Amino acid sequence: MKVKGLVAHKPAGPLETYEFTRRELRACDVAFQITFSGICHSDIHQVREEWGPALFPMVPGHEIVGIVTQIGSSVTKFKVGDRIGVGVFIDSCRECTACKSGLQQYCDQGMTGTYNGYERDGKTIAFGGYSNGFVIDQDYAVHIPTNLEMAGVAPLLCAGITLYSPIKHFKVGPGMKVAVMGLGGLGHMGVKFAVAMGAEVTVISHSESKKDDALRMGASNFVVIKVKEDLKPLRRKFDLILNTVSALIDINAYLGTLKIDGTMVIIGLPDAPYAVSAGALLEGRKSLTGSMIGGMPQLQEMLDFAGQHNIVSDVEIITADYVSKAYERTVASDVKYRFVIDASTF
Ligand code: NAP
Ligand code: ZN
Ligand code: ZN
Repeated sequence: MKVKGLVAHKPAGPLETYEFTRRELRACDVAFQITFSGICHSDIHQVREEWGPALFPMVPGHEIVGIVTQIGSSVTKFKVGDRIGVGVFIDSCRECTACKSGLQQYCDQGMTGTYNGYERDGKTIAFGGYSNGFVIDQDYAVHIPTNLEMAGVAPLLCAGITLYSPIKHFKVGPGMKVAVMGLGGLGHMGVKFAVAMGAEVTVISHSESKKDDALRMGASNFVVIKVKEDLKPLRRKFDLILNTVSALIDINAYLGTLKIDGTMVIIGLPDAPYAVSAGALLEGRKSLTGSMIGGMPQLQEMLDFAGQHNIVSDVEIITADYVSKAYERTVASDVKYRFVIDASTF
């Protein structure tokens, strides 16, 4: 299957037009025409090698939605014309305890990423969603509720599930006070899901201009932090903090805003380690943990929940020639709240 997309040939290289071939359909494969592809900050970290050496040529993109055009001989889960989505991984070992319990993102052998790695054969470079066509094993694709508009759904495939998963794990619900640090692509989905679960949500941001949007999304409070003293009024306020900040910041002062036994979930993945003060954790028996996307069953559960509650991402739809500019704006925290590429423009 011949497709067109965008590629980076070298670290931090420009994204250039690229024509390449997706594999012929295997029995369990589904081919689809991509309609929209979201831009995750992780794409930027990887293209720029901010997480260490990456694999090039790289076609980024792991928030992919489209319409099924062809199915393999043994496919039962999809039919031609269905709406389909693919997220951050395209396969996993399928045998380990994690895979068998639906936590494919934590596969013992490592998940097979949608890009920046090899497919399970160990030699074919996996190319991601910045393109107009895709081929996926049916077990690693999900259905998209028909009432949701496709552009707004694309970011759910990474940003959405990445916040939904810890929100479910930590049983966010009525009576809980939740803080979302960083109102970007991930953060705004965290606000929407935590509000839908019935929690009282506070957005902690470094961008004053986002207040009205945060309140419109259902947050009860919006706090701008310029210096760490600004956190003092929030002392011992939150049960749970969802930290989606993409840059390295001093998290110790934020730990002070947790109640006794409160938890901060690290979700953002900056390019360098956090320095954590033991005292900030001891004082109030705080927990510091992390969470990475979500497994296949939960990905479908999240989309069904989004369908029932009419939750989509706030998107700015762009053409393929705007992606480099979109990267700059994302890094400058000037994204409201996810860039999504119209795949017909590749
Ligand atoms: P994003 O849209 O760029 O949002 C990040 C937000 O962090 C910004 O909008 C900004 O919010 C805040 N921020 C950025 N720089 C800051 C600074 N210097 N100080 C304070 N706040 C700052 O990025 P995203 O796509 O949501 O991704 C966020 C992070 O999560 C990235 O590191 C990404 O790689 C990672 N990620 C992790 C997973 C996972 O599975 N755990 C999955 C996807 C992505 P305000 O303007 O409101 O301050
Ligand atoms: Zn992502
Ligand atoms: Zn596995």
